[in-house]
Order: sequence, then structure tokens, then C-alpha cells
Amino acid sequence: MNETDKPASLNFIEEIIEEHLKTGKNDGRVHTRFPPEPNGYLHIGHAKSICLNFGLAKKYNGLCNLRFDDTNPSTEDIEYVDSIKEDIHWLGFDWAGREYYASDYFQQLYDWAEKLIMIGKAYVCDLAAEEISEQRGTPTRPGKESPYRNRPVEENLDLFRRMKAGEFPDGSKVLRAKIDMASPNMHMRDPILYRIIHEHHHRTGDNWCIYPMYDYAHGQSDSIERITHSICTLEFEVHRPLYNWFLDTIDIYHPQQIEFARLNLSYTIMSKRKLLELVEGKYVSGWDDPRLPTLSGLRRRGYTPEAIRFFAEKVGVAKRDNVIDVALLEFSIREDLNKRAPRTMVALNPLKVVITNYPEGKTEEMEAVVNPEDPSSGTRKVPFSRELFIEREDFMEDPPKQFFRLFPGNEVRLKYAYIIKCDKVIRDTGTAEVTEVHCTYDPESRSGMSGSNRKVKSTLHWISARHCIPVEVRLFDRLFIKENPDEVEEGKDFKSNLNPDSLKVITGCADPAMDEVKPPDKFQFERLGYFSVDPDTTAEKPVFNRVVSLKDSYGKVKN
Ligand code: ATP
Ligand code: MG
Repeated sequence: MNETDKPASLNFIEEIIEEHLKTGKNDGRVHTRFPPEPNGYLHIGHAKSICLNFGLAKKYNGLCNLRFDDTNPSTEDIEYVDSIKEDIHWLGFDWAGREYYASDYFQQLYDWAEKLIMIGKAYVCDLAAEEISEQRGTPTRPGKESPYRNRPVEENLDLFRRMKAGEFPDGSKVLRAKIDMASPNMHMRDPILYRIIHEHHHRTGDNWCIYPMYDYAHGQSDSIERITHSICTLEFEVHRPLYNWFLDTIDIYHPQQIEFARLNLSYTIMSKRKLLELVEGKYVSGWDDPRLPTLSGLRRRGYTPEAIRFFAEKVGVAKRDNVIDVALLEFSIREDLNKRAPRTMVALNPLKVVITNYPEGKTEEMEAVVNPEDPSSGTRKVPFSRELFIEREDFMEDPPKQFFRLFPGNEVRLKYAYIIKCDKVIRDTGTAEVTEVHCTYDPESRSGMSGSNRKVKSTLHWISARHCIPVEVRLFDRLFIKENPDEVEEGKDFKSNLNPDSLKVITGCADPAMDEVKPPDKFQFERLGYFSVDPDTTAEKPVFNRVVSLKDSYGKVKN
């Protein structure tokens, strides 16, 4: 995409890396990692992090690992591991076999915990979880030291080994770092390193009944993999002193943690917990519901990896939290599909037009371009006959002044075909609804022929009634009605901001060529938007998802 052609200035992370390369830090290596916790599906925010980490590795001839941060056996699942790998590959990145798991390091992490105990920097604490959090104090009030803080090394070592051996129930003991209960940084007030959880782990089975905390596992896993730049989101900035403390105190290779602002999108939630709630509560059809910001949802909706990578690039790398307009994501896919998607004509809300002076039984093959943005795409044939469907919205019996489409006495062009004039309106005798419009055509006005230069104010899309096929079309709208879905009235939660009209399913009339589509084919329905073939498609019934509506077109139809 050519927006990126201009020489890009460096973002602040690239500046740090280039400085390191200049000074020869890390022997000129650049090694990043993407560290998902396998407790949900990836979303567009993760895509930002994936593009950043894999992108930096590529730019600086380095490496990027995939590391599953699987330290919490209760919320993790192999289903998530598989979906995460599929999504990263789909986005266009590969970890070249460097697929690691924090759980692979459980033994090493344990050994380092013993080391911390032996040098007097960790202790076993018998306080209950609530007591520990109570005694941590507040940012302005120092915490209180645990009565177990000064246990002798031998006793700590013995208790920790017995914790590992399974002698104690869940929650009865933890291992804590011995740092500083008065530190202004709450994370430094004797943080917990290990807790007892008698639970099966999706990789280590029942080998362990003590599990390391995220903070204790993360930096050391980075160190084991000799990560040079450990990139994470801003909320971990306050964890950085602890990240550094572990590496320095254990005395091992020290990667540099760098924080950037997480991606927030308007009208979108990105918390995995809330996404899970929508999926489990059946507010959406699954993790791949096309209204979700998950990568599987966006893929099903019809987003391309190219559009998402372009979006990630456009968003850039910020140091301060901000909210990106979801319109930028929509712009990205529109740009991409405009160049690539073949055009076709579909009437979403069909109204019959009868051309009374056109011979019955006659069919003409009209020549239409496949994609005007791509000259190599050639042309397609579209059947034209006496009875057609147009978009109901393109006709008004009693139009306002600015309406230039079809109305009694007015002429419009049927795209790639003739100019027609509206003569008569037929109504249902019961409901009075307009059921048919009778028109006459100008045989000299066929597109591409001598009389085709005659100008009329509107050009409409159409479908031959005899040839068209029915298609199911799913029209999506934003999942939330509020720009910030977390802004709620007292006593309510984010679900109260769900948009009740986020999905509308209709049956449209499509070009007969549409009977051969398969997912993930994508099309521009002329004047309407971009549509993608859904996996629910069967031989009998094609199903389309609206990816995004058109911005600029030769007369936009709203739906
Ligand atoms: P949770 O929703 O439970 O807080 P998480 O979003 O942190 O989880 P992880 O699986 O731990 O999920 O994230 C993997 C990586 O993706 C982390 O490095 C994290 O910083 C990054 N990441 C997650 N969300 C975003 C986001 N919105 N923008 C940028 N990076 C993100
Ligand atoms: Mg996380």
C-alpha cells in the first residue's frame, strides 16, 4: 500500500534498538518474542503486538519467538494454543520452530527460586491471600512485614520443597521475594513468586502443584531465550523494577523491557475476560463471530492479513494511552479490497422493473469490468432481460428535489446497459406497497454503443430477474452503541451497551455467477460495499458477510 512509501521516521522502540546496534549491545543481535497467555483467542490488539515484535525482528535481521505464557493452569487450554498459532500464521508471520512455553522452564524457574531462598531473598509465607493483600498497604502507606519474613533459610528451603512435593493444600502457603515492604512501588513489596494450585496443566500434567506468578516467570523466560528487547504494554511499566530485580538478583542475562501504549479501538472491547463472557453467554455466535475484534472474527468477516498489517503500521507505536477510531480499521480493509475484489451486482432489497418495450424471452450479455482498479482483471458477462431487479431504495414515487434516481417520468442508466425511463408504478391492491415499476428503454443507449454518450444523472445496479440467484446476506453493524463500551450507568455492565441491531440477515438477488463462490472469496457489490463469502455457504445457498460499506461510489446506497 503506497501510503507507506514515504521514508518513515523511526518510532521510539526502533530508536532504542538502533542505539543498541550502534553501541554493539547484545553483540548486535535483535531478538524479540510474542508472549500470549493461552486463555483466549487473539484480537486486533494482539495483532498490533505481533506486527511490532515480528516486524522489528524482520527489519533488523533478527528473530522473534512465540512463547506461551502458560503459568496459570486453571484458565488455559490447548484449544487456545492452536487458535493462536493459526492466527499468527494467517497474519503472515512465522516463528521458524521457536515455539516455547513458560512451562518448559518450570524446573529452571524452581531452581532459581531455591537460589533466591538460599541467598536470603525469598521466604515461605503462611498468611492467607487476603491478609497478604491487606498488609501490602497502599501507595501512600507502607506495607507491614509478614511475621514469616525472617524464617531461617533452612526452614524456608524445607517448606518450599514440601510445597512442591504436594504436602500442603491450595492457598496455605506462598513463596515471596524479600524486597521492601516500604517501597513506594507496590510491586516491590515482597511480591508472591509461587502459589500452590493442585490442578492439571495442559502441558506439564500433574508434575507440578506449585505454579510461578507471571512476574516471576516472564523476565526469566525472556532471559533463558536470550531476548534482547522485551516489548510489552504500558501497564507493565510499574513492574519493570521487579523485572530488573529478579534478573539482577538471580544474576542472569538481562533483556531490556520496553513499554508501549496498548491499542484501544472505539466501539470495541479488547479484554479477553469480556470477550469470553460474550462468547460463553451466547451474545455472539462464537469466538469467530464477525462482529468481534478477534482475529478469527475479523477473518470470517472478510478482513485480510494485508489490511490488518497496514492498520497496525498506521496506528504506529505510542508512549501514551489513546483510543484509535475504528474507522481507521475500516479504511484499511476498504483500501485493500478496492484493489483486489472483483465487482458484482446484487440487489439487497429487490424491486422488480419490467421493461415493456424489450422483447420477451430475449437475453443480452452485457460486458462489465471485473475490477476497474486492476486492468489485468478483464471483463465479465452479465445477462440482461425484460424483467430486472433494482435496489428498492433507488426508486421513489414521490421524490424530494435532490433525488436523481428512478421516479415516474425520470431516466436513469442501468450500469453496463441501457437508459430506462419510468412510466408506471404497480401496487399491491391490499398493502398498497409498490410491487413493480414499468419502464421503457432506449435501444440506442446501450453502454459502449454510439448512443451511449447521452447523460443522465444516475446510474443504478440491477440483476436480471430470470437469471439471478438468492443469496443470504449478513449485514453487520457495530457490536456496541457507545464509543467507549465500558462507560455504563451505575449498576450495569458493558453488556448494557450491546447494539441490539448489530446483525441483520436478509436475502438478496445476485448475479448467477455467484453460485460458484467459496470462502474466503471477496467481492465488491457495486454501490453497496465489500462482501465476503461465509463458511456457512452451501451448494444451495451462498452466504455473504458485509465486511464494510463503500465510502466513495457512484451513488451510495445505505442499508
Ligand atoms: P488480558 O486481556 O487477560 O489482560 P492480555 O491482553 O495481556 O490479557 P496476553 O495474552 O497476555 O493478553 O497478551 C499477549 C501480548 O499481547 C502481550 O505482550 C500484550 O502486551 C500484548 N497485547 C495484548 N493486548 C494488546 C493491545 N490491546 N495492544 C497491544 N498489545 C497488546
Ligand atoms: Mg497478559
